[in-house]
Amino acid sequence: MGSILVVGSVAFDSVKTPFGKVDEILGGSATYFSVASSYFAPVRVVAVVGKDFGDKHVEVFRKHSIDIEGLERIEGRTFRWKGEYGYDLNEARTLDTQLNVFETFKPLIPESYRSSEYVFLGNIDPELQLSVLNQIKRPRIVACDTMNFWIKGKPEAVKKTIQHVDILVINDAETRMLADEPNLVRAASKIMAMGPKTLIVKRGEYGVLMFNGKSIFGAPAFPLEEVFDPTGAGDSFAGGFMGALAHAGDVNERIFRRCIIFGSVMASFNVEQFSLNRLTNLTRGEIDERFRQFKALTHFEEF
Ligand code: AMP
Repeated sequence: MGSILVVGSVAFDSVKTPFGKVDEILGGSATYFSVASSYFAPVRVVAVVGKDFGDKHVEVFRKHSIDIEGLERIEGRTFRWKGEYGYDLNEARTLDTQLNVFETFKPLIPESYRSSEYVFLGNIDPELQLSVLNQIKRPRIVACDTMNFWIKGKPEAVKKTIQHVDILVINDAETRMLADEPNLVRAASKIMAMGPKTLIVKRGEYGVLMFNGKSIFGAPAFPLEEVFDPTGAGDSFAGGFMGALAHAGDVNERIFRRCIIFGSVMASFNVEQFSLNRLTNLTRGEIDERFRQFKALTHFEEF
């Protein structure tokens, strides 16, 4: 089984949804990703936090045996993100982004991380994502996320980074924005011409579409009666996907499709409660059971 290296944000999030509100709770792309993937494979984190990051936050990573040698704690305040969702939980409105310790962060990859076989460049400054790739041996798979904040703010850096990426995992609005093309299928072709061989488009409650060369695979999101907080759904998806990929130890279309479902399983658990509350309290049995429910949900026969 291969091990996974993730670089991304570790954050304090303030989130408001129609069902409740939380202030300064643990979040961030690397946090959601690493907890989700830890159910499948060994994970190592590269990120930075400030002096306000306490032991109870570190404990979340420890509980899941996540390697945090690359989690730097420096003078200053931890990254903060404030967002809001309306009844349409598919779209977060960013109210505030405070980069804080990320403003001066230069990721230094520990020696023991450099031969990780699976690398996930979580949503952070694309220049930092690239500097991570420059410090490591050629991994088996590099996957990458980004967001409108960076596509708008640093479009050239985003394009440069994704030239070196095998799988890009972004949402539908980001796909359209990055390709400057409203049609998703055409946008996917344009993006695959920029570097990534595979594009996974997250579509919130409508599921995901995977474009892999000429093939397209679609999976629904798991139909849930209660969705409390979609924050981190994308990163939990990516964590489940990469975790299952590292666990499989091989790469082909069949495996990719199975990993898409494991990603969707982890995202579905994540949205059931605020912050990481559900994701940190799962059993492997619950994950496998939901995977089987997914199979039943999407199974059909020709005649
Ligand atoms: P998602 O999985 O797409 O819902 O991502 C949610 C996480 O992204 C939140 O926990 C935020 O802390 C984090 N986030 C939001 N904006 C940024 C940004 N500009 N850079 C890095 N992380 C961010």
